[in-house]
Amino acid sequence: MRPYILAETNWKAIKEQQIDLAVLPWGATEAHNYHLPYGTDVIEADYISAEAGRIAWEQGTKVMVLPTIPFGVNTGQSDITLDINLNPSTQLLILKDIVEVLNRQGIHKLLIINSHGGNDFKPILRELGLKYPEMFLVTCSWFQALDKKEYFDEKGDHADEMETSLILYLTPDLVLPLEEAGEGKERKSKVRGIKEGWAWSERKWSMVTEDTGIGNPKAATKEKGERYFKAVTQKMAELMQDMAQVDFRNRYEV
Ligand SMILES: [Zn+2]
Repeated sequence: MRPYILAETNWKAIKEQQIDLAVLPWGATEAHNYHLPYGTDVIEADYISAEAGRIAWEQGTKVMVLPTIPFGVNTGQSDITLDINLNPSTQLLILKDIVEVLNRQGIHKLLIINSHGGNDFKPILRELGLKYPEMFLVTCSWFQALDKKEYFDEKGDHADEMETSLILYLTPDLVLPLEEAGEGKERKSKVRGIKEGWAWSERKWSMVTEDTGIGNPKAATKEKGERYFKAVTQKMAELMQDMAQVDFRNRYEV
């Protein structure tokens, strides 16, 4: 029964507990190449938030990790069976209700730990920040916290070597043998600006990749996953500590 995991703790503990920072992990439910589970982003969000929360808690941070939201923005995967889409405008409504609770109850710091590339909380937090000026609202995509090149050989951003290594480390029973995985080849746009990355258009997933993966997972190992998990949770724990400690009204360096 971990006291910093809301789903595990109880009213007896909570009613006396000081909470300086709420953490909301946010995942997605979607196909991850042939070999990883639909819950990959949720599993990553659960484990990374819980472990970072543990590190921060043990160093004295009054943190509370809320249950992971299991659905994300999958507008580009509308023809992939059972990829469950939440529209960005729905995410705004969900977040608004959660922030409303925190704000009313005097928990004025919220960190969203994002686990899915299609989720973009920045415009939403801009809008909610205007409505709730007492709230310190922060979002961080854990997969952008480190330089992946230092941990993995193959590039990618979906069901790639990084995600496969993580799931091999966290929930190995849920990974098919890597011989069954596709190569995660990405077809590039014919529009040069998009191909070069300085213009953007949402990727139509079923046209961009054959197996729903982007990035070759074949070189994944659980050892790589463990090394990355330890580094990324340490970094997320530091973010939690910094957020909990900072004076919101005086939060910029001189
Ligand atoms: Zn993923």
